[in-house]
Amino acid sequence: MIERTSASDVIVVGAGTAGAVMAARLVEAGLRVAVVEAGPDYGSYRSGGWPTELLDAGALPETHDWGYRGQGAGGQRLAFERARVIGGCSAHNGCAQLAGWRGDYDAWVASGCPGWSCEELRPWFAGSIERLRVRRFSPEEIQPFQRGFLGAAVAAGVPFTDYVDDLDGEVGCGPEPVNVVDGIRWNTAFAYLDPVRDRRELTIVAEATVDSVLIANGRAFGVRTRVAGQPRELRADLVVLCAGVYGTPEILLRSGIGPAADLAELGIGVHVDLPAVGANLHDQPASQLEFAGTERLRGELEQFARTCWLPEEQALAKIASPMADGPFDLHVYPWVEPDEAQPAGWRCVVPVGLLTPKSRGRLRLRSADPGERAEVDHAYLAEAADVAALAHGVRWALQVVRQPEIAGYLGSPLRFPPDPHDGVLDKWIRSTHAHYWHPAGTCRMGSDPAKGAVVDARGRVYGVRGLRVADASVFQRLPRATPALPTAVVGERIADLILRPRSG
Ligand SMILES: Cc1cc2nc3c(=O)[nH]c(=O)nc-3n(C[C@H](O)[C@H](O)[C@H](O)COP(=O)(O)OP(=O)(O)OC[C@H]3O[C@@H](n4cnc5c(N)ncnc54)[C@H](O)[C@@H]3O)c2cc1C
Repeated sequence: MIERTSASDVIVVGAGTAGAVMAARLVEAGLRVAVVEAGPDYGSYRSGGWPTELLDAGALPETHDWGYRGQGAGGQRLAFERARVIGGCSAHNGCAQLAGWRGDYDAWVASGCPGWSCEELRPWFAGSIERLRVRRFSPEEIQPFQRGFLGAAVAAGVPFTDYVDDLDGEVGCGPEPVNVVDGIRWNTAFAYLDPVRDRRELTIVAEATVDSVLIANGRAFGVRTRVAGQPRELRADLVVLCAGVYGTPEILLRSGIGPAADLAELGIGVHVDLPAVGANLHDQPASQLEFAGTERLRGELEQFARTCWLPEEQALAKIASPMADGPFDLHVYPWVEPDEAQPAGWRCVVPVGLLTPKSRGRLRLRSADPGERAEVDHAYLAEAADVAALAHGVRWALQVVRQPEIAGYLGSPLRFPPDPHDGVLDKWIRSTHAHYWHPAGTCRMGSDPAKGAVVDARGRVYGVRGLRVADASVFQRLPRATPALPTAVVGERIADLILRPRSG
């Protein structure tokens, strides 16, 4: 039997990075909101029920993963981690909080999306930075390996800045701004949902995977979901999909919104033939130099940990390849990780991530079954320019690792290009690359569905009334940043557009 509930004005699907922001802002405005999340809800931070590994900002947890898998340019198997828990990826990510470069937001407006310019978004960035309690590490908080990297980056020609995320900034290196409070990953559930958890307007429906949107006469009126294995229909005047770059297009496709031929092949009835759902998928590919670590590294990390919190990642360099269409296009973001297989017990990683990939892939459903993950094809490095940009970054990283400030920590190379010359290096990059964990773009915002748009500049899905998208899937092109903060801002901005329909 299907249970039907109709006590909400708005259903927010996914209580992740953007979803928690969306739900909180609508509740604060007095709307009755049901937020439907596939993963568990561990309650407020104060309740003390959160698993330690999700709280500990010092390392990336491997629990609560949705289990998406795919491949890189050389056919290598890659995991595409996404968190299935209240707070979404903000509850398991690396905590770097960057806005990027102003020109990327201004380009969004130039492509037909008014209201998304850098100047218009600045107040939302400032608000999210405050809510997420973003701060910068002081010099004495920087652990020895990270300090060594910053010294080496300066020696390799990139200036130090203690404000590495200036929206007007150029190349530079410095400590990452982070949403870490006393070693705790301050996720969007803590920052946004906790203050409204006691409001009667908010209902959190956890461990409920949304199958599809209920649509009649071109209007969304709820969602079909399963709670504790039981089918349930929830109804509301507005449905906002915040299920992330993979989850949101999956739900749209299962709802009959997507490329008609693909839907027909899977036996899904078509509501709207919207070819771009699942297209424009892009991620920031990354090439990693890896080293076995040294006794000196082990000793200095141990000594540091006696008096200070020891995070794995802290420093960032922004550099520009000849392919850059702005002041920089590459991030280098080194980390150390415990590795029992190495003699010193640590592995050192010096990755180079391309922020502005040109390659575009696609997400496709394998079946109409919500229990089956979609096929995710990022088409990494399909464009030669992406390989060339990464090669530039790898050559710079090779200079960095030779500097005395860092060399004494690195030890034997575990993953290292055999030869820095063009053909060999390109081949090595293709066959060994990983990614920066930043997929986006599958429900692209734009002014014309015939030209690849899925939602308009207010997040409204073309062809269906009462249905919006607000998460990392709306980016036309990732800003040259880490995307958590820009995604929280997407949540803020679209919530405001819902609440103030005449604004923007
Ligand atoms: C390992 C890792 C490290 C990262 N590090 C950083 C970093 O340091 N800095 C940074 O800026 N970015 C980082 N990112 C990326 C960043 O966290 C994400 O880009 C961003 O959080 C995405 O936000 P979102 O709201 O689009 O999706 P999410 O935060 O993923 O939220 C989607 C939510 O929807 C839920 N959901 C999905 N499908 C359904 C369904 N069918 N029914 C109900 N609920 C559903 C999910 O469980 C999830 O809670 C990292 C990502 C990973 C995986």
